[in-house]
Order: sequence, then C-alpha cells, then structure tokens
Amino acid sequence: MAPRTKAARQSVSAKCPVCKGTGEVPITVRVGRKRRPVGQQNGYCLRCLGTGEAPTD
Ligand SMILES: [Zn+2]
Repeated sequence: MAPRTKAARQSVSAKCPVCKGTGEVPITVRVGRKRRPVGQQNGYCLRCLGTGEAPTD
C-alpha cells in the first residue's frame, strides 16, 4: 500500500498558460486601410493549438 502523495500531475493535465485551458484566446479584429480595431473575437490559441493543454516540451 503506497501512501498517497500530493504530487501534482503536471505532465498530464497542465493547462495552457496562454488560453488557460480554453483553447481560445481573444484576438483584436482590425479592418480597413487604417487597421482600425473594431472589436475582439475568439481565436485559435497558437500556443496549444486549440487543445487547451500546455505543451510538454
Ligand atoms: Zn492555449
């Protein structure tokens, strides 16, 4: 019977620090010649590629 430890399971379920596990990040939308920001929308998180999990490397 191994004693249960409180070691964190970081390698398995670590959330992406960029999108906080959602897989999406807010992206500013610009439009027109002046690149005027018109708002934000959810975009693909490039850090975790939308999986919401932190890269292991
Ligand atoms: Zn992410």
